[in-house]
Parts: sequence; C-alpha cells; structure tokens
Amino acid sequence: MKKTATDTATKKPSPIGPLVRVRGLKKHFPIRRGLFSQVAGVIKAVDGVSFDLAQGKTLGLVGESGSGKSTLGRVMLRLIPATSGGVLFDGLDLFSLPNQELRALRRRMQIVFQDPVSSLNPRMTIGATVGEPLRIHRAASRSAIRERVAELLERVGLPASAMNRYPHEFSGGQRQRVGIARAIALNPSFIVCDEPVSSLDVSVQSQILNLLADLRDEMNISYLFIAHDLAVVRHFCDDVAVMYLGKIVELAPAERLYEKPAHPYTQALLQSAPSPDPQERHRHATVSGEVADPIHPPRGCAFHPRCPFATEECRRVEPKLESKKGLADARLVACHYAENDLNFADAIQSSG
Ligand code: SF4
Repeated sequence: MKKTATDTATKKPSPIGPLVRVRGLKKHFPIRRGLFSQVAGVIKAVDGVSFDLAQGKTLGLVGESGSGKSTLGRVMLRLIPATSGGVLFDGLDLFSLPNQELRALRRRMQIVFQDPVSSLNPRMTIGATVGEPLRIHRAASRSAIRERVAELLERVGLPASAMNRYPHEFSGGQRQRVGIARAIALNPSFIVCDEPVSSLDVSVQSQILNLLADLRDEMNISYLFIAHDLAVVRHFCDDVAVMYLGKIVELAPAERLYEKPAHPYTQALLQSAPSPDPQERHRHATVSGEVADPIHPPRGCAFHPRCPFATEECRRVEPKLESKKGLADARLVACHYAENDLNFADAIQSSG
C-alpha cells in the first residue's frame, strides 16, 4: 500500500534505506534587469547535488560563504522551491506532495537557524515561541502545551520558568537552546542545522554541539549540519560533504576526510582553519582568491582559478563527483587528479 505523509507524520518509523535521499537537486535564481525585468543571467546556487542521509546520522555540509549550503538546506525542506531534481523523505517525494500532506510531514522536518536573535520573535515569550509548533499542528491541548514546553525547556538546559520571559533577557547560547527546544517540540526525524553555532563563543559552541549530539542519540534524529568551518563539525558528523559553487566536490566519512582530504579545496579549507598552536600557525596555507562569480562560473573545474594543480584539462573539462579506485575508500571526489596524492600546502609553499 502506498505510504502517505499522514501515515508518517506522527510516528517515527525506521525507514528501509536512507531517511533522506537527495537527487540532482538544483536551485537557480534568475537575475532580472531592465525596464521589463528581462532575465539577464542565472545564479546557480545549488547545481546538481545528490546524497543520502540515514536515520540517526549527521551529514556535515561545509564550504565558504556563497557555496550554496544554506540554499540547499532550505530547498530540501521546501522552504524555497527547487528548480529541478528531487528529495525523497522516508520514501515520499517531497516536491510532488500536495500542500496538506506536506503540512503533515513538516512535523518531522525542522530547522535551527544560525542567528538565535533574529530567529526568535522579540514580542513573543519563550513559552509562546516553543509552544508555537504544537499549537499550529494541534499536537496538544492548551494545558498540555504548557507542560510540554516546560519539559522541552528543561531538556535543552533552561529552567521551566524561562517560558514567561522574552528573548532579550537571554544570552546568545540560551537563545539557541530556545531555538532547539522549538525544533524538537514535534519529535522530528530530520533537522537542518544552519550554522547553529557560528555566532556563538567557542566555549558555548561546544555546549550546543553536545546538546545536539545528545538529542540525536536519544531521539534518533538525522541532521544536515551546515558550517563554514571544517573544525566545528570534526567530531560531530558521520559524513562530511564539501561544497564549492553550488556543487559537492568531496563527500567522505568524517574520519577519512580529516585524516586524508583528497580534493585540493578540502585541503585548503582544513589548512585555513585557525590553530591554537603558534608553532602550527606559520605552516597554514590559505586558499587564495575569492569564490568565483556564481553568475559566470569558471569553465571546467570551478576551482581551477584558485588551484595550484590546475592543468589545461582542468580548465576545459568539469570533473565528476565519483569514487576513485586509487583512494580505496568510500569517498567521492570531483577532481581529475585526486588519486595523485596532491598536497595543497606544499604546492602553495613552493609556489610562494
Ligand atoms: Fe585542481 Fe584540477 Fe582537481 Fe580542479 S580538477 S581541483 S583544478 S587539480
């Protein structure tokens, strides 16, 4: 029998196969100019992204600003429409679901935003904010909502009395806890965490990451965890995807990616992460130049203008994201020379 969104909205089945399956996802924004708003070009913010995410697992999505990470997260949740491609959520085709079924399914898909200040309504009490999804989805009676909100606040490390206060009375870390309490209110299966710790102090970052990890283990939640800093996601993710100009350039189990990054851009990102060790600092090679103009992306490999290994082939032929026999692990890389043991830091130092 065909599964419907309503069947899956209230319970958390263990899906056979991945919980989320993304295939060939594209989001292109037209650029309009002139008196009649003619289309003068397109920004390919997300350009043919595919991956699977299993129940209870975390995929880190990393890249510089403008790489398309946040747009990808929003398109996956249907907060903005996709240009093409598809997302299967627990076997249901998210983009062809009628609104009513999508609404039912939304209970299981949530988002935690980067900025806990602007994501909370300053005029709503914390209790009203956290209880809002319960009210919208008619998930509990009025008195039960109060009880559930108290429970949720305590679960994220805030006192139940916080429900009568307003966002401005809390620190950044506490406000992010409120955002997380709201996101888990409906017992979701999947949460897009859109740079949830980027605006927080380092000590607070690790507290929030620990909280998210505990919730994942307890509630069997899958996360798409967006970050611009590879160091942040190091111990938190099962797999990591590195994005550059709307495409994934490397996708690997986290341990393998940090041990031996294969794509020059992944190596550059790891190299540019700040180190607390002053001895280490001088060895850091940073990726030079800016992310290319997404309206006019470079031909061939989009990373070639910044890559010390670029050849004529790189300037002409776009590399596919694929497994490489020579790498002998489960990773996918989009680089013509990924099997050649490329070393970005050495190449930058010898060219400098
Ligand atoms: Fe560098 Fe060429 Fe690999 Fe692109 S394909 S990352 S330009 S070596």
